[in-house]
Amino acid sequence: MELRDKFGRKISYLRLAVTDRCNLRCQYCMPAHGIDIVDRKDLLSYKEMYRITRVLSELGVNKVRLTGGEPFVRKDFMNLLKSLSFNNKLDEINITTNGALISNYIDKLEALNINSINLSIDSLQKEKFAKITRRDVFDNVYDTFEKLDKSNLKLKLNVVVQSGFNTDEIINFVELSKNKNISVRFIEEMPFNGIGQRKITEEWDYNKIIKHIKNHYSEVDSLQSKKSSTSINYKIPTYKGTFGIIPAFTRTICNDCNRIRITATGMFKNCLFDSGVFNVRDFIRNGASDNDLKELFINTVHHKPENGFVAEAARKNDVSESMSTIGG
Ligand code: SAM
Repeated sequence: MELRDKFGRKISYLRLAVTDRCNLRCQYCMPAHGIDIVDRKDLLSYKEMYRITRVLSELGVNKVRLTGGEPFVRKDFMNLLKSLSFNNKLDEINITTNGALISNYIDKLEALNINSINLSIDSLQKEKFAKITRRDVFDNVYDTFEKLDKSNLKLKLNVVVQSGFNTDEIINFVELSKNKNISVRFIEEMPFNGIGQRKITEEWDYNKIIKHIKNHYSEVDSLQSKKSSTSINYKIPTYKGTFGIIPAFTRTICNDCNRIRITATGMFKNCLFDSGVFNVRDFIRNGASDNDLKELFINTVHHKPENGFVAEAARKNDVSESMSTIGG
């Protein structure tokens, strides 16, 4: 038994939101006052997350990314990681984090064989960072960055390219890959900001970002990436690390999608741009067996939309929820 959609795509990657809470208030993700967080009882419990992941892993999911909200905001998050690490059907456990709360956990993350950390960092300038995140945590995040860079954990940086804010730093971010074995990934800004409108003065899409970088360097090598990679990857010859661009908004990567998402409240999503297919939490709390869950997952994945545009067109409401609600 496996998860395969009607276009033949095999699903092997789960993005699981651990919480909808976040310690930052990034401008492109939510309004200044934050989002309406749900009652604690409405969040999936760790036991439920463990079970959902186990059942999915029995259907061929071998990679899980824990995200949120900020995963490290949730109490005892390390316990969830520990229990997931016992699931030997999982080849990779990855985490996306803003890094403000994790500098004391890095040894433990290494000991648990966490595969990679995606650290979100949208500016290398303290004041600008505070403006974007609406919190004064740049020093903590940068400290985490340096510690992660020295650790055995694979490190990727997530940089949301925001017109009028940080496009002047794109080259500085590429330069970080000169002496560090990291992958810097530029993400196109999406409307998932709790409001719906993208306050964009100039469209910085994949084409514009790569053109900007190619104008600066005499040579930029294209890299061969895994088919299901979300980023289109490059390297400046002689640089230790790499960089990539994630066309999250222009959605040119959907053909090889191998992902599903489950939000912190248990909403199953076949696509980032759909509005949720069914609530796994309610299904479990109503007594579903593992076989019931498997049947539901198999049937739901079969109807995965062809791409993010099809998914968006089928929504009843506009794309406006925060990435913190969805699980970025
Ligand atoms: N709190 C963690 C963090 O900051 O990495 C994990 C959750 S966050 C929602 C996951 C990723 O989504 C981050 O890299 C963030 O920058 C990105 N993100 C959030 N809102 C976005 C938007 N509107 N467009 C593009 N990326 C977004």
